[in-house]
Amino acid sequence: MAVSTSEKVKGGFTFRRGVHPPHRKSFSESRAIEQIQLPAGSEVVVPLSQHIGAPCSATVEAKQQVVVGQEVGSSDAFVSAPVHSPVNGTVKEIAPLPHPSGRKVLSVVITVGDEQPEPSIWRELPENCTIDSLENTTSEQIVDTIRQAGIVGQGGAAFPTAVKLVQNQQKPVDTILLNGCECEPYLTSDQRLMIEAAGPMLLGLQLAVKAAGAQKGIIAIEDNKPDAINTVFKLIKDIDNLQLAICRTKYPQGGERQLINAVLGRVVPTGGLPLDVGVVVINAGTASAIAWACIEKRPCYERIVTVTGAGIKNPGNFRVPVGMMLSDLLEHCGGLTDDAEKVLLGGPMMGPAAARLDLPILKGTSGITVLSKAEVVENKEVACIRCGRCVDHCPLNLVPTRIAHAVKARDLETAEDYDLAACIECGCCTYVCPSKIPLIQYLRSGKSMIARKKQQVKSK
Ligand code: SF4
Ligand code: SF4
Repeated sequence: MAVSTSEKVKGGFTFRRGVHPPHRKSFSESRAIEQIQLPAGSEVVVPLSQHIGAPCSATVEAKQQVVVGQEVGSSDAFVSAPVHSPVNGTVKEIAPLPHPSGRKVLSVVITVGDEQPEPSIWRELPENCTIDSLENTTSEQIVDTIRQAGIVGQGGAAFPTAVKLVQNQQKPVDTILLNGCECEPYLTSDQRLMIEAAGPMLLGLQLAVKAAGAQKGIIAIEDNKPDAINTVFKLIKDIDNLQLAICRTKYPQGGERQLINAVLGRVVPTGGLPLDVGVVVINAGTASAIAWACIEKRPCYERIVTVTGAGIKNPGNFRVPVGMMLSDLLEHCGGLTDDAEKVLLGGPMMGPAAARLDLPILKGTSGITVLSKAEVVENKEVACIRCGRCVDHCPLNLVPTRIAHAVKARDLETAEDYDLAACIECGCCTYVCPSKIPLIQYLRSGKSMIARKKQQVKSK
C-alpha cells in the first residue's frame, strides 16, 4: 500500500520549557567517522560493569590469549550485558581500576598483540544468533542475539537493550522511537552515524520493532541536522512501518520523556518508564549495534565517539574500541591545546568533568568535550535572588531551587517531597541561573545521599 509523504514525515514537534544553548557542533559535524586501530603493546581496560544492572564475572584469566569479539565477562542476571575484547591480545590482569563513575571497578586489562585482524573480522556470536533477514527471524531470536552481543543503550544510560525489548504481555509496546535528536551541544556521533550508516541503523530499528512486537518505528531528528533528515527520508520512503518526526531544536529534546511527549503526545508517569505508555526509546548508535549483531554476528566491542571542543587539536568522530584509554584517545586526536582547561565525559550540559585521564571509554560514552579556558566560564555562586528562571525552564516542571535548598540543609525528606527522583539531570536549571548556583550538582548529590541511605536501610 502506498504511503503519502505527509504520513511518512511530520515536523514541528517540541516540548514545554527547556533551553537553547549554542550548538557548537561545527568542530566535528563534517568529520567522517574514522576507525581507530590500537598499536601493539598498548592496553585496553574493559570494565566488567559498564551498564545498569548486575556486574559481569570475568570469563578469562591472566595470561590468556583473546581475540576481537571474544567474550571476557558475563552474568546470568536478567538485567546485565556481557563484555567482549575489542582487540587481539593477552589478558594482563583482572583488577579493580578507575572507572568514569568515580569508583574502582573490576576490569579486564588486555595488552594489544602484534597482529590485529582487519576491522571486518571478529569472533562471531554463536551459531544460534544467525539471522538471515528480518522476515526469517523471531522476536525471541532477535532479543537473544542482542543479549549475547552485550548491547546497551548508547545514549549514556547504558541500560541493557535486550531487557528493554523483551515482550511484556502486561505492557504491550506499539512504537519504537529512535532517538536521533542528539540535543547535547558539541556532540555529533549520532549525526554522523545517521549520515554514514543510516541503512544499518534503520534495519536495527526494524529488528527492534519486530523484537518488541510493536507496530511501527519513528525516527526523531532535530531540525538542525538537515543532512541526516534527508538521508533518513530517502531510505524510509518505501518502508511501510517507519516514519520520520522532525523536532524543533531545543535542549533536552533527546530526553526520553520530552521526546515521547513531543512526538506522541504521551506522558510517562513520574517514577514510570516509557513502557508504561507503550513506547521503547532506542538511540541511533544502539539501533546500528542491533543490526550489526543480528546480521553480521558482531558483538558490541566498539562504538562511535565524538572528541570535540576548542581544547583538542584535531576534533572528529571515531569508531573507538570499548576499553581504549581516554588519554590514548586524546593523544590520537593530536593532544590538548595549550589553553585546554577541562575534559568532560560527554557534552557540556550533562557530562561530568573527568577527574583523571586514565579512564576507559565505555559502551555508554558518546563523546568527550575538551573546553578551552575561553569556553569555561568560572562562576562564583551567589545567593538565590528568587527570580524563578530555574522553575520556568525545568522540562519536568520541578522547583530546582527548593530541592537544592533542601539538599544543602540535608533535609532529604523535603527534597523527595519536591520530586527530586523525577529530575533527569539535564542541567537546564544550572544553565539559566543568574546567581550561578550549581543546582544540578546539589540535585545529583541529593540523589546519591538518598540512594546511600536506602542501601544502608536495606543492608541492616
Ligand atoms: S531540576 Fe533536574 S530536570 Fe529540572 S532543569 Fe534541573 S536538572 Fe533538569
Ligand atoms: S534561577 Fe537561580 S537565582 Fe533564580 S530562583 Fe532559581 S536558583 Fe534562584
